[in-house]
Amino acid sequence: MTRTDSSVPADLASIVEAHGKAVAAGDNLAVLADFLPDRVGQLIGSADVPTSLKSSDVQSITDAGDGFFDAVIRYTRPDDECFELRSRWVRDGEGVWRTFSVRNIPDTAPWMDLTGPSPDGLDAPHWDGLRTGKLLLQRCSDCRTWVWSPRPICPACHCFEMSWEQVDPVGTVYSWTRTWQPFTKEATGHLPYVVVLVELPGAGNRRVLGVLADADGVTPRIGSTVHGEIEQPPDDEHWPLMRWHLEGHPS
Ligand SMILES: [Zn+2]
Repeated sequence: MTRTDSSVPADLASIVEAHGKAVAAGDNLAVLADFLPDRVGQLIGSADVPTSLKSSDVQSITDAGDGFFDAVIRYTRPDDECFELRSRWVRDGEGVWRTFSVRNIPDTAPWMDLTGPSPDGLDAPHWDGLRTGKLLLQRCSDCRTWVWSPRPICPACHCFEMSWEQVDPVGTVYSWTRTWQPFTKEATGHLPYVVVLVELPGAGNRRVLGVLADADGVTPRIGSTVHGEIEQPPDDEHWPLMRWHLEGHPS
């Protein structure tokens, strides 16, 4: 049964219904016609959809504010397994609604291949540290300046003796951005996701880049407290991932 807000326009409900049927039928021309023209490339790469499907079922359409509406459509694969996509719709003229974004749900992104040591190997101790459950940042052995990202010499005193020390993974959001493009194939199905620049008071306010957990529909505030949790990879081929959680947000 479809759950719809009373504020959902009637013409949108039928368009979403038809869109689900077109996706399930593999009618790519009809599906593409529903996409906002300037977002076609992004939308094609956004959702992880099997090539063959049996059916579609609109689960809900809800008001997402600012003229956007979110539709959750459940699709059934030939083996009767189900998965859900959430598409966001916006009015694009009288009687015309188009897809603004689409993603697989839930939003937990397993994109392990994005992570790992850089080619120069300077940050290798950092990644080895994550494997043992520790956040390690570089620190000058002489003047004790924290350094990130890693360098061969201390930028403060030019000493070559650089060490690695453990840092409490608690900080504040210095900046953030919501990424809408599937820059790598691992991101497909998980757009948009939020990248945060986290300032670490425990490391001389050095800032580290990371991914915000449970960020679907969440708008972070600059200065919000976040804590990092290290997620270990499924095998030795991949690297751990530090995900940042907003304080007071269920993890
Ligand atoms: Zn130094």
